[in-house]
Amino acid sequence: MKPAPFVYHAPTDLNAAIATLAQVAPADGRVLAGGQSLVPSMAFRLARPAHLVDINTVIGLDRLTLGPDGLGIGACVRHAAFHRPVTDAPLGALLSAVVGHIAHYPIRTRGTFCGSLAHADPASEWCLVAVTLGATMVAQSVRGTRLVAAAEHFQGIMTTALEPDEILTQARLPVLAPGTRFGFYEFSRRAGDYAIAMALATFRLEQGVMVAPHLGLGGVEDRPRRNAAAEAVLEGRAPEAAVFHQAAEAAAATVEPLEDLQSSADYRRDLVRVVARRALERALS
Ligand SMILES: Cc1cc2nc3c(=O)[nH]c(=O)nc-3n(C[C@H](O)[C@H](O)[C@H](O)COP(=O)(O)OP(=O)(O)OC[C@H]3O[C@@H](n4cnc5c(N)ncnc54)[C@H](O)[C@@H]3O)c2cc1C
Repeated sequence: MKPAPFVYHAPTDLNAAIATLAQVAPADGRVLAGGQSLVPSMAFRLARPAHLVDINTVIGLDRLTLGPDGLGIGACVRHAAFHRPVTDAPLGALLSAVVGHIAHYPIRTRGTFCGSLAHADPASEWCLVAVTLGATMVAQSVRGTRLVAAAEHFQGIMTTALEPDEILTQARLPVLAPGTRFGFYEFSRRAGDYAIAMALATFRLEQGVMVAPHLGLGGVEDRPRRNAAAEAVLEGRAPEAAVFHQAAEAAAATVEPLEDLQSSADYRRDLVRVVARRALERALS
């Protein structure tokens, strides 16, 4: 199949991109970033945008910045940028540990971090990272700039708080305090496939107990989410196998798993027990 006809726009600065999107969004205009989700769905004619606003030609969107707001990831930063740690802070190692699970290398050289957040597949690794760490989205349009917390950004399967005329120009991630532990565990049928279930755990160890634990789950529900029940089990406890087991059980008891061709809801719930416990164990190793 070939895509349905569309008008291609290639603005070279951000203001022009924002103005063009404002004009074409009401006529089903869409942003084109890495194209690794949009182009296949156009080829299958699942998506038939009348206009594409290519942001790859916009100068300055491919930047990574480190500042008081954390790590700023511009809209055209590719997945592959994270194969090597982008910062000495724990965040750099965390992103490197996760990126290899996203698709295959050629896709990682084109697909973008922000494109994944805009696409909002519930099984996207970067969406899980964004929610678990508490990322902030920077959305720009002709009406100005909005900052949106990750927990509000993701609203359901491939549904976000972005308006049709907004460009996600940057995502900001907290760099994580020195000594923050993290563990990521993903279950998928084959290397490079989307996750059926995955977990990301972070915590600090102070005087032998876990402080500020975050446990995020992805691929399980209609959007990635932190699991409050598991986090309540972990807070202030020693990082021991029995505590991890209890937290994983609490997570499994409180999720509302999706059912699809890959997995029943019961199987996904069972996987939550496994991925949550293994992510916590990895945070200790
Ligand atoms: C075979 C295959 C396997 C894959 N496996 C995985 C996987 O395991 N995990 C995973 O997470 N992903 C996977 N992907 C998807 C890949 O990671 C994509 O790169 C990603 O989902 C979208 O990023 P993109 O830059 O390619 O966005 P595009 O395809 O260009 O756009 C996707 C959507 O987001 C919108 N959009 C993109 N950027 C912006 C922006 N800055 N502002 C506003 N809207 C925007 C577009 O309009 C479009 O609707 C896979 C893809 C393929 C083809």
